[in-house]
Formats: sequence, structure tokens, C-alpha cells
Amino acid sequence: MQIRFATDLSAAEYVRQQAWKSAALDHCPLHSKGECGFARHGLYSRQTPAGTKIARWYCPQGHITFSLLPDCLSSRLPGSLIDVETAINEVENARSQEAAVFGLRIDVGLTGVLRWIRRRLFLIRMTLRLLIKFAPVLQGCRPSISSFKAALGVEYVLPALRMSAEPYLYVLPPPVGFGPRPQCKKGEKPPFQHKTGTDPPLEGE
Ligand SMILES: [Zn+2]
Repeated sequence: MQIRFATDLSAAEYVRQQAWKSAALDHCPLHSKGECGFARHGLYSRQTPAGTKIARWYCPQGHITFSLLPDCLSSRLPGSLIDVETAINEVENARSQEAAVFGLRIDVGLTGVLRWIRRRLFLIRMTLRLLIKFAPVLQGCRPSISSFKAALGVEYVLPALRMSAEPYLYVLPPPVGFGPRPQCKKGEKPPFQHKTGTDPPLEGE
């Protein structure tokens, strides 16, 4: 299970300062009175940014691992929330998705990069639509980065949402939320392959 590690560090600063060392969980999220054997459970590594580690705890009674994900990093996708936002911003401001991704990710080719961006667009638009529904202050927004940026008055929307939309994090999909991936309607192709059970990012970079 992922837990918010509240921090205003950028992804690069998080790595440089090895801020996972200061991540702390005082008590088990399942058993506030303790006595469940709750303890630190080492670290796991993420590929991007290089050198990223995430601190983990384990509750033996609940058989659950808790990972403290800093506010700057995407959940269940590689890299930072700002990386995702920058890519989506490009698409919103481009003539077409093809034009937006031109020159990006030459390692995976056009089809691969379109899949890469559509996956992110699907998840972020779903997140923004849910927040428009949940948060009265966002009613009237469109499900776009530019509309949310104007409404929130922030430089980057996605890290701001991780910080301010805490009550909704467990219903919002990744990479902002810690909730489940949205299910496709019957007959629709899944946006990407579904895997379960692990905290580390599921998509290689
Ligand atoms: Zn516990």
C-alpha cells in the first residue's frame, strides 16, 4: 500500500538528499495501538530518477507493506509527476498527439510513444474529471492541465493535487492517486496491461 510522504522536495532533490532516510511512519496505519509487529522493511529502488529509493514498512499481522511515496513522484509509473504533467501539457498545446510526441522517446518509435502518452492522458483526464466531481472549488473546470492551473494558481498542477487532494488519494487513479487503475468498459481495449500487487512502478523506462 502506498502512503503519502509529504514533502515539497523536487524529484532531483529527493534523490540528492536521500530524503527516504527521513521518511517516517510512527505507527501502523492498520493498528494505531501497535502490538502488531509493525517495523521498517528496507527500501526499494526506482529506475527514474536514477538513484531513487522508497522507504517501506511492514505489518506482519495484516501482511501488508507500506511504501512512503514522496509528493514529487508518480505512483505506479516511472519518474516524477512533473514529467507526466510536462508531457500532457505538450499534447494539450499541440496540433495533434503525433505533433506533440514528435522527437520524444525515439527508443520506442511513434506507435510506442503514442501508447505511452495516451496511457498518461487517460489516467490524468480521469483524475481531473473525478476531482471536478468531488471538489466544489473545481466545479466549472475542464479536465485539462491548463484549466486546473488557472483554477489553482500553481505552476504545476499534479504535485499540487497530490498535496491538496489527500482525502481523495485512495479513489484517484495513478500517477497522482494511490487508488486502483480505472477499469475499461466491456469490449473496450485496456489502456495498458493490468498487473497487481507491487508498489514499485510497473512500467519500465
Ligand atoms: Zn499493523
